[in-house]
Amino acid sequence: MVDRTLLSQLAKLLGPKAFTHDATEMAPWLSDWRGRVHGNAAAMLSPATTAEVRAIVRLCADARQPLTMQGGNSGQCAGATPDETGDMLLLSLRRMHRIRRLDVDGQLLFADAGVILAHAHDAAAAQGLRFPLTLGGKGSATLGGLVATNAGGTQVLRHGSMRALTRGLEVVLPDGSLLDQMIPLPKDNQGPDPKQIFIGSEGVLGIVTGVTLQLCPAVHERGVGWMSVMTADAARTCLHRMRRELGDMLEGFEILPEAALTHVLAHIPGTRRPVATAGPWHILVEAVGDGADAALEAALSACMTEGIASDATIAVSEAQAVDFWRIRDSISEAERAIGPAMQHDISVPVDAMPDLLTSLPAELIRMFADVSCLAFGHLGDGNVHFHVRPPQGSDANAWIAAHGSDVGRAVYAAAIARGGSLSAEHGIGRSKRAIFGELGDPTRIAILRGLKAALDPKGLFNPGVLVPD
Ligand SMILES: Cc1cc2nc3c(=O)[nH]c(=O)nc-3n(C[C@H](O)[C@H](O)[C@H](O)COP(=O)(O)OP(=O)(O)OC[C@H]3O[C@@H](n4cnc5c(N)ncnc54)[C@H](O)[C@@H]3O)c2cc1C
Repeated sequence: MVDRTLLSQLAKLLGPKAFTHDATEMAPWLSDWRGRVHGNAAAMLSPATTAEVRAIVRLCADARQPLTMQGGNSGQCAGATPDETGDMLLLSLRRMHRIRRLDVDGQLLFADAGVILAHAHDAAAAQGLRFPLTLGGKGSATLGGLVATNAGGTQVLRHGSMRALTRGLEVVLPDGSLLDQMIPLPKDNQGPDPKQIFIGSEGVLGIVTGVTLQLCPAVHERGVGWMSVMTADAARTCLHRMRRELGDMLEGFEILPEAALTHVLAHIPGTRRPVATAGPWHILVEAVGDGADAALEAALSACMTEGIASDATIAVSEAQAVDFWRIRDSISEAERAIGPAMQHDISVPVDAMPDLLTSLPAELIRMFADVSCLAFGHLGDGNVHFHVRPPQGSDANAWIAAHGSDVGRAVYAAAIARGGSLSAEHGIGRSKRAIFGELGDPTRIAILRGLKAALDPKGLFNPGVLVPD
């Protein structure tokens, strides 16, 4: 039970705009994005400043009151959903949505943690600059959530994930103290860099309240191409070829199987097949920079001439480039129209990817007769979203309830056996915490537990998330 005195202190501190225990107001924020995990909270707190966050944390630390942090609630592992007890408080960062400063010459954006990714894109673009990290949830995901999950997306190949683009951070610790590392210093050798431990820590070690982002010049020219290839191994050869030909210009290299394209064409209005040849694998490739279009065209031709690709085309207009990307970005939506699937976000070294893409479906069909597999995503980063659908004609939800965790265990074990990870970019959250405890590297987990015990000895920040029992 949440202490009533604490609730009145918080209500007084925040006022009616930022404190609610109204069930209807809180309801949209108590289930995860996928609508699979549902929680409860005694109240939702929505501070607008770092000072308010610190005051909340101090009161909660004194009362030993646990908090669940939430940004845009677009995370894919239910880390922002409180548990079912109703004994937690939900701390929403969405009212902290101020762009603090944009340093055009330094190409840096200083912002509150609740700024939505799309708004950061707009702010950079207004100054002829660009924040290159982007993803499907950009209209909801906040900078703090992106830092907390070390988000990836489609531009990681060239620009890296959130860790590479985060130059500064402001973090409120579980005792209410503040780590202020907002100002980036190219040289600062005072031991390990503390801000790094909060990137990807999913809110269990600290609350991100401010972020300094590295920007880059806006893109004036991009080339977007589509290829079809016969095997996953040919896709990898194409990637290496593109890297050699395009160097730094190569920004995205995504793979999708023919089945994914077929689902998109069937369920997403206005989509069209980019090339006549029907796979079995398709590649979407993007190059940016001066001369990108011509360089990409030459690279695609080389792949065709050498027989690596069986078909290839380049978008002749920006509208067609957008259409190509729309196909890639609509796969999840098209899949939803078919029914539920067990979704796994895994990574392996790029050279192990062809083996994973061919052996794992066969292994799963041997283990669980008649399941169907669909793997797509960021081949250039060695990351695929590996979806497994229950046998046709089965009661999908009942099948998933009965076999879902065994399927997950087999998929994650296959990634780990190839030197990979059971979470490439989505994090661990609540959903993967048990399997992380079971299959994760024990030394890595011990370090994580040590950090948690050192920074949050009372276990008040995001209990039940990331850190295995
Ligand atoms: C359509 C779609 C496509 C997506 N594509 C990708 C993709 O390609 N790559 C990718 O990496 N992700 C992707 N995502 C997942 C999601 O957008 C990212 O995980 C994002 O980083 C979550 O940000 P958020 O603000 O919504 O965080 P939330 O979902 O609110 O929270 C996520 C985690 O971070 C913690 N947290 C949130 N804010 C803070 C804070 N200020 N301080 C401390 N902890 C905090 C929460 O407690 C939780 O553990 C996608 C999501 C959607 C809906």
